[in-house]
Amino acid sequence: MTAQPKIGLVSLGCPKALVDSERILTTLRAQGYSFSRDYQGSDIVIVNTCGFLDSAKKESLEAIGEAIGENGRVIVTGCLGVEEQLIRDTHPSVLAVTGPHQYEAVVSAVHDHLPPVPNKFLDLVPEAGLRLTPKHYAYLKISEGCNNRCSFCIIPQIRGDLVSRPIASVLYEAERLVQSGVKEILVISQDTSAYGVDLKYATSKYRGQDVPAKFHNLAEEMGKLGVWVRMHYVYPYPHVDSVIPLMAEGKILPYLDIPFQHASPSVLKAMRRPANQEKTLDRIKSWRAIAPDLAIRSNFIVGFPGETEDDFEFLLDWLEEAEIDRIGCFEYEPVTGATAAADDVPPELKRERYERLMEVAQDISAHVLEKKIGRTIDVLVDDVDPGAGRAIGRSQWDAPEIDGAVIIHEADGIKPGDMVTVRVTESDEYDLFGVPEALAQKA
Ligand code: SF4
Repeated sequence: MTAQPKIGLVSLGCPKALVDSERILTTLRAQGYSFSRDYQGSDIVIVNTCGFLDSAKKESLEAIGEAIGENGRVIVTGCLGVEEQLIRDTHPSVLAVTGPHQYEAVVSAVHDHLPPVPNKFLDLVPEAGLRLTPKHYAYLKISEGCNNRCSFCIIPQIRGDLVSRPIASVLYEAERLVQSGVKEILVISQDTSAYGVDLKYATSKYRGQDVPAKFHNLAEEMGKLGVWVRMHYVYPYPHVDSVIPLMAEGKILPYLDIPFQHASPSVLKAMRRPANQEKTLDRIKSWRAIAPDLAIRSNFIVGFPGETEDDFEFLLDWLEEAEIDRIGCFEYEPVTGATAAADDVPPELKRERYERLMEVAQDISAHVLEKKIGRTIDVLVDDVDPGAGRAIGRSQWDAPEIDGAVIIHEADGIKPGDMVTVRVTESDEYDLFGVPEALAQKA
């Protein structure tokens, strides 16, 4: 029997790019390709690139260079693919370049350079498609592109305007994920709260019902699947208020990932952020009155062009008042092609502001986590360390990769993917520590 051609994949960038990689792999798998985890075992390597920041472009170009050096036969796809000339100038030997979410173009480039071998004994592709995440959680992408025009961002130029998937297609995919053993679904897009705007909220048939493509209906239907549902990339538009009761009722996780980026009105205006006119602090307070367990994760940019000391201090005060649970921060970096004004905050000042902001973030996080001591919480286990008798998992307040963790002591018999009830005994700046509830009761 002829050996199946083997593909290597390097996936860079955000969870959205990871979902694109999963789709590419699923299609290729269905066509008889197999995969290799190393360059040497691959007949061809696909590099799925990120082109969001100039530093990400650099990293992508380096990854392409490494794949060429180690393997030699490289196809480039993803966000940096829109800059084909740059890629070809830097690495003239790449076999093909395709852009973001051009699944068919990548697959056809693979066919051109590594034809599939028909094999009737092929493994069937799992119903839920191939995934690059652990078995117990999965990202679910509900739309491509973005209708906003933030001045620091080139995503709309790369990925185009918002194109939402019909809600039935999203919900059936969610069902398949649950059937395949997924216990947590992370909803992603560029602007989750804008879901369906481009479709004019058109209905589609899901389980015999006409369901409109609206953020609220999406949350409500997903809340019936019996797994954790976590919402990422939500903006504080007024209609977001309507999903908070679903969080209070335990239908979806009390967690919102809202990339605020700043709080000072003048900086937000210069950034051209969506929903920047909304009374966000009041809104957060009203959300917490309904769902007191709500955790908000957000990202911020310091050193944006024109940011003054007053703007920055406004941001620090705002963070404390809003008690943003999980904070990430970037020093502003200009992006070629974005419309933001000239980079005028000196690098040392950006670094200083970054450090000051992260100190405040750490204090808020430590304070919030300390209040969880003594509580009994559900923890989804990601990893175990049998030698140390520990398991590492996440609570409803922690998304994978970006937030903190729950370290479970005396974790004998616990496996990745288990949902464990844990009594929280300690906390530090970012993590919680505890023991399985059954043990806590015996003690
Ligand atoms: S919301 Fe703004 S930052 Fe996010 S993808 Fe759209 S334009 Fe870019």
